[in-house]
Amino acid sequence: MPVSGPSLHLQNVSRHFGPVRAVDAVSLDIAAGSLVALVGLSGSGKSTLLKMINRLIEPDSGTILIDGEPVESDDPHILRRRIGYVFQNIGLFSHMTIGRNIAIGLELAGVKDGRANRVTDLLDLVELPRDMAARMPDQLSGGQRQRVGVARALATRPGLMLMDEPFGALDPVTRDKLTDQYKALHEKLGLTTIIVTHDMAEALYLADRILVMQDGQIRADATPGELLSGNVGAEAEALVAIPRAQAAHLIALSKST
Ligand code: ADP
Ligand code: MG
Repeated sequence: MPVSGPSLHLQNVSRHFGPVRAVDAVSLDIAAGSLVALVGLSGSGKSTLLKMINRLIEPDSGTILIDGEPVESDDPHILRRRIGYVFQNIGLFSHMTIGRNIAIGLELAGVKDGRANRVTDLLDLVELPRDMAARMPDQLSGGQRQRVGVARALATRPGLMLMDEPFGALDPVTRDKLTDQYKALHEKLGLTTIIVTHDMAEALYLADRILVMQDGQIRADATPGELLSGNVGAEAEALVAIPRAQAAHLIALSKST
């Protein structure tokens, strides 16, 4: 499957809120087709960074290029058709069927033909039953709602997916399953994905590359293997220490039984 996701280039991107430097001179190159995890403590600037890419937040300074093109060159609504966005507790319109919720981006883009077929394909893609199109959001479990969120984000065939703790509110088993299935989808569709997670174990398992943010800056930028082998800075080491200690504890327990 050829890669269709774009490359992403950030040059010296900053955004402050009053005295807080939410994102502080971040420069970054992300290759087409990569799956990048963005980790860091709460308040480190992860969501602000993502929202500048799809222009929900405008930077104070710096440049953001998607496939070499500045994000400001399009109207934000047009830009967002090329960028899928999934976040925690995805807001579905409670008075609309699941099918219409999934197709809302197409509806807003003025696409009239083939919406029902596209909804069916998207339900298949996120492994939800086709008859779910007729149901209402309050009939779904949390995991099903997040799958609908992924389907909705993919409706306009974006190449870039921005995922902000997309499965963070789900139980661990459901979260693991959705994470696995999203990784497969990322590969199948040749997407470029940035996924924010507070779970370093998930990032290590999922991503090609891990960015560690702290105080608005990227303090580590490494592959999972490099992060585990150390020498990537104190911030990264503190985050990696948690899954490392859990794994050691489990191994010790299994040996003692
Ligand atoms: P994260 O997603 O890593 O938890 P955020 O990007 O949400 O971090 O926030 C980074 C910093 O910017 C925090 O100190 C947060 O309080 C601040 N911040 C984010 N959005 C706003 C806003 N709209 N108004 C004021 N401060 C904000
Ligand atoms: Mg956040």
